[in-house]
Amino acid sequence: MNQDTICALATANGVGAIGIIRISGEDAVSITNKIFEGKDLEAVKTHTVHYGFIKDNDEVIDEVMVSVFYAPRTFTAENSVEISFHGSPHIAKRILEALINNGARMAKAGEFTMRAFMNGRIDLSQAESIADLIASENEAARKMALNQLKGGISQEISILRNDLLNFTSLIELELDFSEEDVEFADRSALNQLLQNLKTKLQSLIDSFQYGNAMKNGIDVAIIGKPNAGKSTLLNALLKEERAIVSDIAGTTRDTIEEVLHIKGTAFRFIDTAGIRETVDKIEEIGVKKAKEKISTAKILLYLYDEFDSTAEEVISFIKEIYREDLKVILLHNKIDKLVDREEPTLNSFDAQLKAELVPYYTDTIMGISARDNINIELLKAELANYVEELKTEENAVVITNQRHYEALQKSFNSVQKVEEAVSMGIQTELLAYELRTALEHLGEISGEFTNDEVLGNIFSKFCIGK
Ligand code: GDP
Repeated sequence: MNQDTICALATANGVGAIGIIRISGEDAVSITNKIFEGKDLEAVKTHTVHYGFIKDNDEVIDEVMVSVFYAPRTFTAENSVEISFHGSPHIAKRILEALINNGARMAKAGEFTMRAFMNGRIDLSQAESIADLIASENEAARKMALNQLKGGISQEISILRNDLLNFTSLIELELDFSEEDVEFADRSALNQLLQNLKTKLQSLIDSFQYGNAMKNGIDVAIIGKPNAGKSTLLNALLKEERAIVSDIAGTTRDTIEEVLHIKGTAFRFIDTAGIRETVDKIEEIGVKKAKEKISTAKILLYLYDEFDSTAEEVISFIKEIYREDLKVILLHNKIDKLVDREEPTLNSFDAQLKAELVPYYTDTIMGISARDNINIELLKAELANYVEELKTEENAVVITNQRHYEALQKSFNSVQKVEEAVSMGIQTELLAYELRTALEHLGEISGEFTNDEVLGNIFSKFCIGK
């Protein structure tokens, strides 16, 4: 167990009704007791709350409530105290100073969670989920982080690891008896296991696209010639959303106006503020610049006005800009101007585009009127559909973390190598080696195999006090 006793402000740094300072470590209770007036905290039961005052030398600093938690049933698995005080940053500073003068030290970013991990209370993926929970800004992100905290991913990984581990032991047993040329591990059963592992790993890997989209939102670029109606479309898309957010005091319109939530997913309209200057000049700045602009986008809304563009123009632009992982939605805007308004979805102009561009976009082309709000709901449904298509099985574990994603890919590659080795009748040593590697990569996710650099990287992203 770590001997230092650490302390930090756990609530946001600013004025609030109540602020909370947490203290963790062997001496958490005894140090707090030295600055507490009201009762002897070292004589109280664990998991109890006490009223009193915090003093620095003889000066009373604040009236507080102190919660006392003795190890091991605490977040860090160490002795822990939480002091609830009147939420002034100045009082927080005074209490922290008093704690430090009596033997505690300031916690580093993420140090409480790191201790929870080091002391075996949670595994690494659970620790990461805590950062995700704190950062969650929508329902989908919150739910996925909570699932991970409850051990969803850990369980899935541990099942896979156990399967692998059993086999690795058999293979290693063969190594011990290598002189005698016996096979303990039935090769066809091993093959079966490998297939099974690959399927499961692949489905976790596949879930990342969806998980990442749900967690971080999806970037959408709106592009088109000047006056195609880009700003009008953005306004039409964001109309209801704005009405909702304008009720929230203190929200900045600028940033919020660019994000649209559909069915719990955040769609971010890239650089909306800049779209006027930059994208309007697409002909001047050229395709290269446009490509840069949309390089992070997953979806491109390309607007055109039939009376102001030629089909060739649209076609060549889309062909230039095409990327395999970009969903292109062609929007024939201003259909209110068409005589044939009864049938607003496709006309001969669109049909020409469609015929030429089928290999380049996911067959989505629709007529809209940004100004008159025609088919805007249909467009929103199409955006939501993009997310639905990413979804794998319902209720399955979803990977949301880049680090886990990479570890899973590495495991998959190792499993694939084992498979090749088995099919080529390769020596047991090599098999054992690849199996071990696959195991290690899986172990990286839960933190069974890790190093200081990885840990430092993960926990330094936490806030202080977490
Ligand atoms: P941007 O330059 O692409 O951002 O285009 P704007 O959104 O500023 O629109 C340019 C002009 O087209 C404005 O006068 C809009 O009112 C008009 N406009 C935009 N959408 C429509 C539409 O669906 N129908 C019609 N008739 N006019 C539109």
